[in-house]
Amino acid sequence: MTSPAASAAPLPGAPFVCYQNGRLMVEGVALSELARQHGTPLFVYSKAAILAALAAYQRGLAGREALICYAMKANSSLAILKLLADAGCGFDIVSGGELERALAAGATPSKIVFSGVGKTRAEMRRALEAGVGCFNVESRAELDVLSEVAAASGVRAPVSIRVNPNVDARTHPYISTGLKGNKFGIAHDEALAAYRHAAGLPDLRVVGIDCHIGSQITESAPYLEAMDRVLDLVTQIEAAGIPIHHIDFGGGLGIDYNGDTPPAADVLWQQLLGKLDARGFGSRKILIEPGRSLVGNAGVCLTEVLFLKPGEQKSFCIVDAAMNDLPRPALYEAFHRIVPLAEAGSTADAVTYDVVGPVCESGDWLGRDRVLAVQQGDVLAVLSAGAYCMSMSSNYNTRPRAAEVLVDGVSARVIRQRESVQDLWRGESP
Ligand SMILES: *Cc1c(COP(=O)(O)O)cnc(C)c1O
Repeated sequence: MTSPAASAAPLPGAPFVCYQNGRLMVEGVALSELARQHGTPLFVYSKAAILAALAAYQRGLAGREALICYAMKANSSLAILKLLADAGCGFDIVSGGELERALAAGATPSKIVFSGVGKTRAEMRRALEAGVGCFNVESRAELDVLSEVAAASGVRAPVSIRVNPNVDARTHPYISTGLKGNKFGIAHDEALAAYRHAAGLPDLRVVGIDCHIGSQITESAPYLEAMDRVLDLVTQIEAAGIPIHHIDFGGGLGIDYNGDTPPAADVLWQQLLGKLDARGFGSRKILIEPGRSLVGNAGVCLTEVLFLKPGEQKSFCIVDAAMNDLPRPALYEAFHRIVPLAEAGSTADAVTYDVVGPVCESGDWLGRDRVLAVQQGDVLAVLSAGAYCMSMSSNYNTRPRAAEVLVDGVSARVIRQRESVQDLWRGESP
């Protein structure tokens, strides 16, 4: 038997996941026990990991007027939202559906910012009625429509304009958002004119400025560049007589999926606040919109090995989770570490497998060329599965979505039941 002290080292990238006495644990709960009780595929999250990730931001922003708006599209399960709302977070939402979810979880409406390039009039109306803190507006046309909707609702809409600082976040093209050629935000060169336009619309109230340059960013430099560009704009806009009350620097900080080394949130913010102070904006209200970095490494996805299929060119480890449960590999060729629940592994020989799901698509894989000593019936944990996994899941192949469990110390509770097959055709008529 391995000594607990030697075996309790957390797994890389997953500080609240470790082997103890040979068993993979999240906090004080054995994952094999959760798989047995609740079945697979199963998402398991650590409350302590989420709160620790939040605490790093809170330390970094301590002493400032700041609001952390969790970008809830990363993981929008009600229990996760409630946990973050109770810890003082606001929310960054991108749809009317997310608004209702945030409110259902107990969000404070004034701490909600509403982002997204394509808000509908109905979504605007409902967000005004709910009293969201700010609309992050992404085009001139949206300013006009929002002003009309606000007039009809008899309120002034608080707005920030999302500016595109034209900074290369050096991340995957699908998750890079701050360059000229993409659909998000208003170009740096057009921002001042857009602010003048907004300030001239009687039913809008300019409150801030925002940017969001991409996701899974693993360096400080793009943030520092973007901050410079945004502060240049604030100077210009205020010189034109339009006060900017808050500056929202978006989200995007990366996590360790595969040896990635993003700066810690508190270290990053030390650097950014240094620049903010040096440029004389130190007392400005700051908003941030982190998503992945709050929840990504707080979650794992448990999946059972259904079959092993040795082959001449490739051997396949066929598991019961698939691209509908965990779409990031199929979408972005993303890497997730995959480890067995039993540290010693089974008595099987280590073989190089592609770990694939049952969905009828060649793109349905979770990991490629993984060396695993597994046998049929073993359960594996896909790590770093807290962000953009469950929230991106679908019912493709009429597969019910997985259940979710939240671990707190030695206790665990189901925060989302496994979907039933009948759930999947609700509203359909044959
Ligand atoms: C997705 C998104 C975020 C969060 O990005 P992460 O990489 O998950 O931190 C923040 N702001 C906006 C506008 C977004 O679209």
